[in-house]
Amino acid sequence: MRFCTKCVMPDTKPDLHFDENGVCDACRSQESKNFHIDWDERKKEFLEVVKKHKKNKHYDCIIGVSGGKDSTFQVVSVLEMGLNPLCVCFEPTIPTEVGRQNLANINSLGVDLIHIKRNPKVYKSMIKEAMKRVGDCEWPNHLGIFTTPAHIAVNFNIPLIIWGENSELEYGGPASSKDNAYLDRKWLEEFGGLLGNRATDMIGVDGISEKDLALYFYPEEEDIHRVGVTGLFLGYYIKWDLRKILEVSKAHGFSTSSSRVETTYENFENLDCYSNHVHDYLKYVKYGFGRASDNACLDVRLGYISRDEAVRLVNKYDGIPPMRAIEEFLKYSDFSRAEFDNICDSFTNKKIFTRDSDGKFIRDIDGSLVRKEEYIVR
Ligand SMILES: [Zn+2]
Repeated sequence: MRFCTKCVMPDTKPDLHFDENGVCDACRSQESKNFHIDWDERKKEFLEVVKKHKKNKHYDCIIGVSGGKDSTFQVVSVLEMGLNPLCVCFEPTIPTEVGRQNLANINSLGVDLIHIKRNPKVYKSMIKEAMKRVGDCEWPNHLGIFTTPAHIAVNFNIPLIIWGENSELEYGGPASSKDNAYLDRKWLEEFGGLLGNRATDMIGVDGISEKDLALYFYPEEEDIHRVGVTGLFLGYYIKWDLRKILEVSKAHGFSTSSSRVETTYENFENLDCYSNHVHDYLKYVKYGFGRASDNACLDVRLGYISRDEAVRLVNKYDGIPPMRAIEEFLKYSDFSRAEFDNICDSFTNKKIFTRDSDGKFIRDIDGSLVRKEEYIVR
C-alpha cells in the first residue's frame, strides 16, 4: 500500500490515482483550488445562474439536505443570493438527536422543507441485503439522497438542483480531472457510491417489486428534459473549505456534537445518522482508511494541519469500531452481533490486516484490526 506523499490517502482508495511524485489526484485538485482558480470569476458565473433561475414563478431551486454542516451552508448561501429554495430531506437510516435538531434548524432558517419518510420495510430490506451483497449499510441512502431531489424537481417543475461539494473533486477520483460541475444520472451511476449494485438488482429481495422502488429510480429521461433539470455543485463556484463552512453553519444555528464523532477526531462530521458511522467503518475494513483519514487529508490539503500530524491522528483514531453506532445498527437491523461480525470479516482486506494461524483476523483490546507492518500509515 502506498500513501500519498502530501496527504495520507492510500492507493487502496478506488479510482484514486497518483502521479510520478506520489501525489494523489485529490491533492493536485486542491492545489489548483488553492492557487489557480479565480473564485471571484466563479462566483460571477454562479450569479449568472442565479439570475436565470430567479425568473421561476415559485421555487427557484431544490437543495437536498441532511441537516449536516454542508447542507446548512448550502441553504444559507442560496438564501443570501436571494433564491427561494425548496429543501428535500431523504430520511436518514438511524437519525441522531443532534441530526434532528440540525434539520429543524435548516427549516427555521426560513425555507419550505419536504421530509421524505420512505417506506421503512422496503428500506430496511435493502439495507440488510446491501450489507451482505456489497458490504455497505448505506447503499439505499446514497441512492435516495440523489434520486429524490430529482423526482421533486420533475414534479414541482423546478429545473435547478443545487448540490454541495462534488465528492469526486474533494476526495479525488476519475471525475475530478474533468472540472465536472454537473450531477446527472450518469454521474450518479458512475460516482454515486453504488458499488455496481443498481436499483433494479433489488427487485425480488424480500418480495420488493419495481413499484416499491419508485423513489429509488432516477426520473425518466424525457421528464428530466421536459423540466430541464440540471444539478450544479456549489463546490464548483465557492471554495469548499470545511472549517469555514463549519463556522458559517454554526453562526446560523448548526450544532456540533459535545464529544468527538466515534469514527474520527472531529465533532462535526456525519452527525445526523448512526448508520453512517458503520458505513465508514466498513469502508475502513475494505480499504484500510476510514473517516479520520478523510478528515485528516482534507485538513492537510487546506493547510490546517501538517502531514505528520495527520499520520498521528489517523493512526490514533482510524479503525476503532464505533461501538455506539454498531449497537444502534444491530437494534435497527436485527442482525446479531455474530452475523454483523461475519459480514464485516467477509469484506475485510486480507492484504492489509493480520490473521492468526486459523485464518481469523487479529484484534486489539478495543476491537481494532491489526495492520501488517508494511501497511501502517507513515
Ligand atoms: Zn494526497
